[in-house]
Amino acid sequence: MTRLDVNRREFLKITAGTCAALAMPTPGQSPASSKMVGIQVGAVSFVDEGTEKVLDVLGERGCVNTLFLAVFTYGRGIAGRQIPGQPLPDHGKQEYDLNFHGGNFATPHPQYYTNTVLKNTRAPDHGDLDILAEVLPAAKKRGMKVICWLEDVFRTDLPNIQKLQERDLYGRNAETLCVNNPDYRNFLTGLVEDYARSYDIDGIMWGSERQGALADSLGATHDVPPIDPGEVTCFCEFCQSRAKQAGINVERARQGFLELEKFVRSARSGQRPVDGYYVQFWRLLLRYPELAAWEMLWTDSLRDTYAAIYKTVKTAKPTVPVGWHIWHNNSFNPIYRAEQDLHELSNYSDFIKVVMYNNCGGERMAFYADNIGSTLYGDLSKPNLVDLTDALMGYKEGSYDQIPYTGLSADYVYRETRRALAGAAGTKTQIWPGIDIDIPTELGHSKCTPQSVKQAVLAAFRAGAPGVILSRKYSEMRLADLSGAGAALRDLKLTG
Ligand SMILES: [Zn+2]
Repeated sequence: MTRLDVNRREFLKITAGTCAALAMPTPGQSPASSKMVGIQVGAVSFVDEGTEKVLDVLGERGCVNTLFLAVFTYGRGIAGRQIPGQPLPDHGKQEYDLNFHGGNFATPHPQYYTNTVLKNTRAPDHGDLDILAEVLPAAKKRGMKVICWLEDVFRTDLPNIQKLQERDLYGRNAETLCVNNPDYRNFLTGLVEDYARSYDIDGIMWGSERQGALADSLGATHDVPPIDPGEVTCFCEFCQSRAKQAGINVERARQGFLELEKFVRSARSGQRPVDGYYVQFWRLLLRYPELAAWEMLWTDSLRDTYAAIYKTVKTAKPTVPVGWHIWHNNSFNPIYRAEQDLHELSNYSDFIKVVMYNNCGGERMAFYADNIGSTLYGDLSKPNLVDLTDALMGYKEGSYDQIPYTGLSADYVYRETRRALAGAAGTKTQIWPGIDIDIPTELGHSKCTPQSVKQAVLAAFRAGAPGVILSRKYSEMRLADLSGAGAALRDLKLTG
């Protein structure tokens, strides 16, 4: 490790719990806790275990100095308890939150939602609790920072939500919302302005785990099952009008996606085209370059949303850092990776969390191979496809048959960190690797251990990361595995 330049006042401010004593700066050593050590945590943990208790545990076991508090989402994945069917961890209430609803876990202030039809989003899960009002003072007293963590996940039963929804290839409403729809864009900018102006927060992170219609149609993702090629998005009036402005022929695009739908359905039923799957795909893409244009239209629309959120927050309160969570698909799908141009993103990013969850990454890479191996790469065997992915993405990992049972290695975290840092080199953007602590995997597949977590954290810092984000959420982590992160930070102090 290189020697760090420590601002002692800042350093004391961000250390917490027993880690503060362990990480007292000594000349010639690198106090690891001068790094950002974040953890994602939802309101339910504070409700179940008590605010002070949770902060104690995070500080002592994980050397955490920054909370990524899930303040807005309709997804249990970052805001609820353990996923039903997965074993409950050794803390928190020992039951599943089957009635999870989600929404805004703080208090929405109506003046920020005048330009959208989406208004009443307060989460009903914990009565009158405002999680920011509850956690902010307690965290600040300990010198912990609080970053608002927001996600692009909605329910279908919210008033007016259908007006914000994307439209699929056949014009049907999707469950996802369109970032080109003014009602959604204005909701997002209103939401972040509300957080920035109404609370003394230390940052905002938003995440959208989605991609465009081309990658989705091909099933270029680890999601199970992949989206149906007839349900890819977005073809709404706002996207069509944006396409026209960009000089894209909407009808040609639609025809291309209808042809692609046929190709994907036929490939998934095992009907190999005369010249093979890969060649047939290229024949389509060359005939309909609008397929690629439509994918980039989606990506540019997302980037514009990032930029709009960034500008809104900076206008409201210039000192509040703004950044993004980049989806795990970034590790598997080269098309998605190509869309995550860190230099471009740095224009409106103070930080970027790059997901590099190594334990669940093995299972997920195999799922990705199953999905894309049934369409674009139908000519390859699954083991060959995983080898190809390793080569394309620069990994040295195990075979298709092994990785669900071994996970990906700490070396993967190291390589991903190096690559992300190089991708953002010369910019102001901080890269914070997302570290896997007990993210659910299927029964019998690889599980995290204190040692695997420790090795992953060490790898991220050895590669030069200025911080890490322990993920996905405290309520699914086993305490011993969280301690693996703290152990890494203590080791770094000793070996610096
Ligand atoms: Zn749209």
